Amino acid sequence: MAKIRMTTPLVEMDGDEMTRILWKWIKEILLEPYVELNTEYYDLGLPEREKTKDQVTVDSAAATKKYGVAVKCATITPNAARMPEYNLSQMWKSPNGTIRAYLDGTVFRAPILVKGITPYIPSWTKPITIARHAYGDVYKNVEMVVPEGSKAELVMTDKDGNETREVIHTFNGTDGIIQGLHNLDKSIDGFARSCFNYALSTKQDVWFATKDTISKKYDHRFKDIFNEIFEAEYKEKFEKAGIEYFYTLIDDAVARVIRSEGGYIWACKNYDGDVMSDMVSTAFGSLAMMTSVLVSPDGIYEYEAAHGTVQRHYYKYLKGEETSTNSVATIFAWSGALRKRGELDGNDELMAFADKLEKATIATIEDGVMTGDLYLLSNLENKKKVNSREFLEEINLRLKELM
Ligand code: NAP
Ligand code: MG
Repeated sequence: MAKIRMTTPLVEMDGDEMTRILWKWIKEILLEPYVELNTEYYDLGLPEREKTKDQVTVDSAAATKKYGVAVKCATITPNAARMPEYNLSQMWKSPNGTIRAYLDGTVFRAPILVKGITPYIPSWTKPITIARHAYGDVYKNVEMVVPEGSKAELVMTDKDGNETREVIHTFNGTDGIIQGLHNLDKSIDGFARSCFNYALSTKQDVWFATKDTISKKYDHRFKDIFNEIFEAEYKEKFEKAGIEYFYTLIDDAVARVIRSEGGYIWACKNYDGDVMSDMVSTAFGSLAMMTSVLVSPDGIYEYEAAHGTVQRHYYKYLKGEETSTNSVATIFAWSGALRKRGELDGNDELMAFADKLEKATIATIEDGVMTGDLYLLSNLENKKKVNSREFLEEINLRLKELM
């Protein structure tokens, strides 16, 4: 059988620790036998970031902008413990943060559902994709502790030097606290576009919620910007695609999400997304089954797993011990990127391959063959735990059948 050709390259970002091992095996066992991989390779492993003074991360982001699609392996974000471990000259910033800032993108996280693993909310039969706005609000705040007897004011000075003031509070009889937040129209605008584009790309509704009844200027601004962009640029496209944009209050949204069957994109303000993504991923079962896609407002896609480098398993691997690390989210990062590459290039064969790879992966788990993390969660009766490499070989048995 001839291998599937790729006309345009895909940006490949390698990473660290256990996921770097899985990365190599996924390519060797599941991709290279079937696809003539055409990738522009960037090694984002920590040693290479140190060697290039992190230039490799910036270069990989620039290449992503050029080619439009990337797939990324999990990478170490250095902390104090990593400094001696990797003999680092600097505590390099998170590659994800650098790439996200470069592409000005929004991260969409979605669980992969399989039979035998029931979400804690059993009515959730379809994935809930969370989009978190990654700029501003409490994450870029200024705050103060206020002594009793103080008056706190909000002061804005415009470019001509005119001041607008408003009293926040006069602290009589008790100490207190204050906090200043901001956001930018441009950032909210980009967030809205990323959400609407991703909705069209995945044919799912978008839900968005704020507390605009209480926050009549700040949260209301989010509501208005989403609404204006939708009405002006996306309404007709959504109608054609048979999907909807739905706005409601955040507390109503939470209640509806719990009652829902899933199958939509939940666009969240920064804090809501931080909190709700942990709730949703826990309810769906395992971090190892969460995918993550960074989507820029101009339609550039970077696919990865939501989990980290699985350090504990890597140290076992280095000692020659057997590991049972779940590669599903990393496989789906590859299938997502290959499908998108195929879609952009009109390469039907490549898109069909991505579908088959996902189908074979899910079938393996549904046949009862799984890694240790899923073995603990699955309610299948004939389940069997396999090691990291056996799992990939089992997927390949099923993939071969589909090809
Ligand atoms: P982690 O790698 O996500 O792993 C935390 C724990 O979750 C693991 O020890 C394991 O539990 C379980 N787990 C996660 N993924 C799994 C998988 N695929 N298969 C089986 N079990 C899995 O998080 P971490 O240990 O906090 O972080 C390790 C490194 O990853 C850090 O250096 C961090 O900076 C980095 N990180 C990178 C990204 C990214 O690149 N996007 C994201 C998060 C963290 P058990 O040990 O109980 O089996
Ligand atoms: Mg969180």
